[in-house]
Amino acid sequence: MPRQAASSRTSNGAAPAAPAAARSAPQKAMDKLGLVRDIDLALHLPLRYEDETRLTRLCDARDGETVQVEGTVRESRIEARGRRQLLIRLGDGSGEVLLRFLNFYGSQQKSWGPGVRLRVRGELRHGFFGREMVHPTVRIVQDDTPLAAALTPVYPTAAGLPQTYLRKAVAAGLARAPLDEVIPAALLPRTWPSLREALDFLHHPSPEVSLAALEDHSHPAWQRLKFEELLAQQVSQLRARAERAHLRAPSLRARPQGLLDRLMAVLPFQLTGAQQRVVAEIATDLSLARPMHRLLQGDVGSGKTVVAALAAAVAMDAGWQCALMAPTEILAEQHFRKLVGWLEPLGVKVAWLTGSLKPKMKREQMAAVASGEAQLVVGTHAVIQDQVEFAKLGLALIDEQHRFGVAQRLQLRRKLESAELEPHLLMMSATPIPRTLAMTYLADLEVSTIDELPPGRTPIVTKVFADSRRDEVIERIRDEVARGRQVYWVCPLIDETEASDQAADEAAGRASDRRPPLDLSNVTQTHQELGETLQGFGVGLLHGRLPAAEKAEVMAQFAANTLSVLVATTVIEVGVDVPNASLMVIEHAERFGLSQLHQLRGRVGRGAVASVCVLLYGSPLSDSGKQRLKAMVETTDGFEIARRDLEIRGPGEFMGARQSGAALLRFADLQEDQALIARARQVAEVMLREHPQAAQRHAARWLGAKSEYLKA
Ligand code: ADP
Ligand code: MG
Repeated sequence: MPRQAASSRTSNGAAPAAPAAARSAPQKAMDKLGLVRDIDLALHLPLRYEDETRLTRLCDARDGETVQVEGTVRESRIEARGRRQLLIRLGDGSGEVLLRFLNFYGSQQKSWGPGVRLRVRGELRHGFFGREMVHPTVRIVQDDTPLAAALTPVYPTAAGLPQTYLRKAVAAGLARAPLDEVIPAALLPRTWPSLREALDFLHHPSPEVSLAALEDHSHPAWQRLKFEELLAQQVSQLRARAERAHLRAPSLRARPQGLLDRLMAVLPFQLTGAQQRVVAEIATDLSLARPMHRLLQGDVGSGKTVVAALAAAVAMDAGWQCALMAPTEILAEQHFRKLVGWLEPLGVKVAWLTGSLKPKMKREQMAAVASGEAQLVVGTHAVIQDQVEFAKLGLALIDEQHRFGVAQRLQLRRKLESAELEPHLLMMSATPIPRTLAMTYLADLEVSTIDELPPGRTPIVTKVFADSRRDEVIERIRDEVARGRQVYWVCPLIDETEASDQAADEAAGRASDRRPPLDLSNVTQTHQELGETLQGFGVGLLHGRLPAAEKAEVMAQFAANTLSVLVATTVIEVGVDVPNASLMVIEHAERFGLSQLHQLRGRVGRGAVASVCVLLYGSPLSDSGKQRLKAMVETTDGFEIARRDLEIRGPGEFMGARQSGAALLRFADLQEDQALIARARQVAEVMLREHPQAAQRHAARWLGAKSEYLKA
């Protein structure tokens, strides 16, 4: 199916300022679809086509076929028995067909009377009274009314917007849209049509064309269009990168025997080779007088936090402040404790900022940040809210960056850009981004990869069980906790996305406990069940709706091993780090996405003891459910998981609306069109170098108002 079908993906240019009342229903529907500028209309491509270029004789048509026939009305009557309907008997000399209308106007019956010539199009069926068509499209014709010269486009549309209206609007938009060639011809394959030709063709293909080539998008007209789109994206990303190179940032260098060295000295472990390498990459970036824009990716448990801490040490040693932002309060709190533990003995003051702080406390923390007394601030996205002012922010660290929404990332950008010298930015993610995605979405990002786990870890063994074996699993838990180990039990809960919920709550000035109730019965029941069966061991309960203080308390008890079992929702998905936990049970594992399962599993296998992850499934498994669980059993490598996830879900969903905002591609497909992506990348580089104005025009034509999002 063509990818522009989802209306939410269509772009929106600057909407004209016409008052809503003055706009007709179809116009409003067009606005909603983002069909505002002529170019938007020209780029609104058909979902499929109807062939109205020829007539089929009734004697040649087969049942089940969709055909266009022309004939004379022999009889027209209204059937009153049962459901009222209009029945028309049409003959074309070779046979007859009954047209059946369940909804009709009186005027239609009148004008479609006996003797009138009709051209109708619909699916032939074998009905009770012989052959029939239900609700065909109907046109009154004369003997010499010409047939359509081109295939008739069928566009993605919305309620209140009839195809005929949309067809006219698109045809008019297409005729008016400025589609002059912007890309120098030398940079394009000679076999491709021009943009104007490609669009004219895709809207109105000639009847000889192979419908297959149109539908699978392999036709040169499609290639041209997809290339245009990819080129716009590459240009805008490369430009963002070039612009960044002109921005000024503080040059941050660690002093010999300074904070960095002192922190290294107190760490309870040796850095892995991969950690040393990425620390060096980051340190080099920080020493430059332009802002770093780097993604640190590494599988769950690869040790990204300490790398962040070391980067922060460099910045603070150079006399600048750092901010560390995490998507959930639990994770932020854990970072806070860890960093306070490492850094306060070295004389660093760490501030704490989240949405759930009491106003007085929040004011104090903000004052410490504004005065520069706190060199480091840790928290949720509250850290980047407008009221928060930094004395001298030099480095922003974003943990699990893919969990932040587009709005939050734009807010961060604005915050960073408002500084006199732009701060450096380091983003961290345990969801490795496959190469094609990295090339298209993150072309303006440097990437550092930790490709090695700290030594001494025993690989996690993953097992899949039907829920009917729950009792066995609980016995296994008993063994584990009896040996002093700890266990997570995770239950699914629909849509418990803390980061975005919290953002919405805080934006609306709501306290988080006033959010609508969620169905927590699964997690509370399991908590009760395990509490009763595992008498003598502490069983805790953790979910997003608990007050922040209680969440923190439960986490602290689990970290201290006062609780042996933690029954939780996915609030523990990201980053939670309790090395003594050696068993993870995921209930209804079939309901989780693959990367989420991998993240959850990453909560165990963090210490030296051999760890096990048990995936329980309840309902019969769907195909993709099976594939996900199988992938989990077969590999613990995050990069392999990401690759399979991309394969199972496709790139659109993989990135998710949250990840990519409106920047999702409409026409190109990241998997199918890898060769086009590579070509677009090359051409973008040449155009920016040799034809900068054309490059600019091209990006503006394609992206319009969307280009903002590409920066997020
Ligand atoms: P992630 O990359 O998933 O954020 P963390 O930073 O939470 O991983 O680190 C996982 C665990 O590994 C933590 O307990 C951390 O202290 C520990 N760790 C990190 N680096 C090393 C290392 N080089 N040697 C031993 N343990 C390490
Ligand atoms: Mg982490």
